[in-house]
Amino acid sequence: MTQPFEGLAIGGKRLPSADGRTTAVYEPATGDVLAQVAQATAADVDQAVRMAHERFSTGAWKQMRSRERGQLLQRIANKIREKAELLAQIESRNGGKPISAARGEIGAVANTFEYYAGAVNKFHGQTIPGNANGTVMTFREPLGVCALIVPWNFPLVIAGWKIAPALAMGNTVVIKPASVTPLSALALADLVLEAGLPEGVLNVVTGSGSVAGSALVTHPLVRKISFTGSTEIGVGVMKQAAEGIKRVSLELGGKSANIVFADANLDVCIESSLFSVYDNAGQDCCSRSRILVERSIMDEFVERFVNRTRTMKVGNPADEQTEMGPLITPQQRESVLNYIHIGDSEGAKRLCGGEVPTSGDLARGNYLTPAVYVNVTSGMRIMQEEIFGPMVCIMPFDSEAEAVQFANDTPYGLSGSLWTRDIGRALRVARAVETGMLSINSSSSVHIEAPFGGVKHSGLGREQGMTALEHYSEYKSVFIAND
Ligand code: NAP
Repeated sequence: MTQPFEGLAIGGKRLPSADGRTTAVYEPATGDVLAQVAQATAADVDQAVRMAHERFSTGAWKQMRSRERGQLLQRIANKIREKAELLAQIESRNGGKPISAARGEIGAVANTFEYYAGAVNKFHGQTIPGNANGTVMTFREPLGVCALIVPWNFPLVIAGWKIAPALAMGNTVVIKPASVTPLSALALADLVLEAGLPEGVLNVVTGSGSVAGSALVTHPLVRKISFTGSTEIGVGVMKQAAEGIKRVSLELGGKSANIVFADANLDVCIESSLFSVYDNAGQDCCSRSRILVERSIMDEFVERFVNRTRTMKVGNPADEQTEMGPLITPQQRESVLNYIHIGDSEGAKRLCGGEVPTSGDLARGNYLTPAVYVNVTSGMRIMQEEIFGPMVCIMPFDSEAEAVQFANDTPYGLSGSLWTRDIGRALRVARAVETGMLSINSSSSVHIEAPFGGVKHSGLGREQGMTALEHYSEYKSVFIAND
């Protein structure tokens, strides 16, 4: 059977790559091929960037009245809602996400475009009375061509966090989705044209990070790079961006802590903590993969958490009842299994999970049962490294100071939670944890209205909220003399 072909989206057209190469895109739940997708060469990336640059330079897009640009973004949000089920099916089949979760993600993408539709004409410069001889005005100018590089774990959500504020400020964009999950970005490229976005303002190049991603990062006409992915690749992107003095923002890895004090409401906390680590099969940069529990409730917490983990419904993403789907690729599952091996050999105790289903329908996909470890110490590799899979370590602490010390004891600082009914303690600990985001008595990290991003090795810059608009614009100061 021939699979559908998906071309590059450049200048409003769908094109094969310059050398005609394609790559297969798979369904994680079955291993079946979903589509053949064009593999962009450096020449294709050059074509996409030049197209975006030409559209930026002619001025029509950046000079469009901000209210009209906002209306266009709103039409994109409406289109996403109109095609929500189709997009959710793509995201669920290509990403292995439970369909219920995929529907939620598409709703969030529409909300992102809607937020920036409203933000466009509320973000502007100032008038600054400098001295007696005149006044300074500041303008928020767009940057030019923005290269948006996206990972595979939340393909359209993360693409939306970058595209919507970039377009809102009048930039043009070239997006490189992850090789294994390019389908939703390509679907979006079609949909924005239907919404009326001028051709060439948004372009999508599919292909490998080492060829297409690298060509994008080093292209001289790219003025800004927004990268979400691993810390390792992010370091290389930042070095390459330095060569061209390109603006860069980085959303990288995490190893977030979930701190549970003895006075927490455990009924709420356990259910929430479960999804804060197993959501998206643990392939979540905000995953709370280290649970720190006050010693007096450690035994009760562990028993209840493990019992609930054992009842997690792992299965077909198309099933409405599924709580956890497969991992994205066989290689990603191998990587997590390697950490299971490391955890076992480091002397930690695995209480459940870490097994590959070998019979029935699940044997065809990249499934892995969720694993819980205890008897861990902060220095162990499974407590220090981002695993990006359904695996959690639970460790006791004896004091507030020790909880903070353990929470901060990794190179990362992206997200986290803390559970207590003592408001003073909640505020003290929230201020002391080195992280970009933290939730108190909740596991929620994403609020479109609020800045999202990390500290330490988790990244640089912020997405979402009005803050994101700062990262897609630059001040211009204009002085007007009085006479
Ligand atoms: P990754 O391997 O770093 O890849 C991310 C993106 O970069 C992909 O599109 C990849 O293309 C591309 N890429 C690879 N090499 C490149 C290069 N030399 N130059 C330019 N681009 C290159 O990350 P991933 O495995 O897709 O995603 C998982 C990681 O993302 C985890 O570490 C996770 O924590 C992080 N993440 C962070 C956030 C956040 O907001 N902080 C959110 C989500 C995920 P290919 O697909 O072709 O390799």
